[in-house]
Amino acid sequence: MGRAFVYVILGGGVAAGYAALEFTRKGVSPGELCIISEEPVAPYERPALSKGFLLPESPARLPSFHTCVGANEERLTPKWYKEHGIELVLGTRVKSVDVRRKKLLTATGETISYKILLIATGARALKLEEFGVDGSEAENVCYLRDLADANGLVNVMQSCSSGNAVVIGGGYIGMECAASLAINKINVTLVFPEVHCMARLFTPKIANYYEEYYQAKGVKFVKGTVLTSFEFDSSGKVMAVNLRDGSQLPADLVVVGIGIRPNTSLFEGQLTLEKGGIKVNGKMQTSNDSVYAVGDVAAFPVKLFGETRRLEHVDSARKSAKHAVAAIMEPKKSGEFDYLPFFYSRVFGLSWQFYGDNVGEAVHFGDYLSGTFGAYWISKGHLVGSFLEGGTKEEYEAIAKATSLKPPVEDLAELGQQGLNFALTI
Ligand code: FAD
Ligand code: NAD
Repeated sequence: MGRAFVYVILGGGVAAGYAALEFTRKGVSPGELCIISEEPVAPYERPALSKGFLLPESPARLPSFHTCVGANEERLTPKWYKEHGIELVLGTRVKSVDVRRKKLLTATGETISYKILLIATGARALKLEEFGVDGSEAENVCYLRDLADANGLVNVMQSCSSGNAVVIGGGYIGMECAASLAINKINVTLVFPEVHCMARLFTPKIANYYEEYYQAKGVKFVKGTVLTSFEFDSSGKVMAVNLRDGSQLPADLVVVGIGIRPNTSLFEGQLTLEKGGIKVNGKMQTSNDSVYAVGDVAAFPVKLFGETRRLEHVDSARKSAKHAVAAIMEPKKSGEFDYLPFFYSRVFGLSWQFYGDNVGEAVHFGDYLSGTFGAYWISKGHLVGSFLEGGTKEEYEAIAKATSLKPPVEDLAELGQQGLNFALTI
């Protein structure tokens, strides 16, 4: 027994929501499309979980942030899917896929077959146990990947007002959660192994600006060390964390953000993998003609850099989904995905955007005291990446355009002096 659809989206996150909208725009008929998701709710804008969702006053709650409000598009509520004849199979994990037979098997025992499969399984948070630390299932240790995690974090946060939080990891989750916890008047200590925060992207100078800003908001930084074990009370709750440098930090709440792994396991041995993800071509098509992959799980050719990348950001999830659907529905019309990598974050009153690639030499510009500043990255004599904090809409658009043009740059000192004007006048 089973159901059959023309198109099946496996995964119900950001990419799934944007793909669904695009399918309707390209004329999918009622009954042709199905979305299967382990999560119990319709696709939503995941970035809200570390920002608006954690606010002490008027926090964001569903249905307000269903996709596709993050890109100022329609808000796709469960009613919208119903009205468009799209089958939402929620709270259902797919436990195996046979790409040769074009069939999925769900954990509830149902077989669903497809003509075209769009993989949008995203990624899972890495667990401390994978780094040899036990005990992260304690009720006051929180990860943050999905709505259930976010609800768990809010509950623990509310039970420890004015208490101590230890945030493990100095990447995106660590930085955004540390800010949200501080806004909730919780004493935050951020612990990470690198010499400065956001080591994958920031230069030491950029990182220094944010670290000083956070410190002024009361956040403490413990750098160059990692968590080695927890101390528990008699009820099994964590009460302190032990660090490799021998110190101990009291903790009413621990938030862990130590990276992710793409959810590829259903396809290992069936599809070609690369860079930890599922390899796709410029049409987001995998090594099997009937299977496409998008979002965090997809490793795709980034034309601008002439190499395959896997990106873990919402803009690429939205745009890769849209591109894959166009390639599926209008194969003759659609070209190769031509994507300019775009990352952003918003914490406290701060807001930055980054475009391109952070390789080569960094040239800083702007006024790091006034709060509008940035950096360009120059590789092999060309501009390849741009970062800007505190910019206007026009300024962000200008750095995006400049980066996409990859202009030659000869004099780095002059570029630093020109600063934003370089991008604004290109
Ligand atoms: P996801 O949105 O993760 O969706 C994957 C879906 O697949 C999930 O619903 C999952 O349950 C489902 N799934 C997986 N396996 C199965 C299975 N076997 N069966 C059924 N369902 C399955 N990016 C930014 O650029 N800016 C931000 O500010 C930002 N903030 C973020 C904040 C948080 C808290 C998090 C966690 C991420 C943030 N990101 C941000 C990253 C961004 O959200 C991701 O890049 C984006 O969600 C990727 O979309 P996706 O559809 O590929 O995966
Ligand atoms: P990340 O890769 O951004 O950062 C991981 C951090 O973990 C590293 O910076 C490092 O400090 C730390 N780390 C690694 N090993 C460790 C160890 N053994 N002990 C302690 N710390 C260790 O990953 P994340 O912050 O967990 O974010 C998860 C995902 O969510 C990423 O894909 C990210 O892109 C996405 N996200 C993006 C945004 C955004 O774009 N604004 C916001 C939130 C989340």
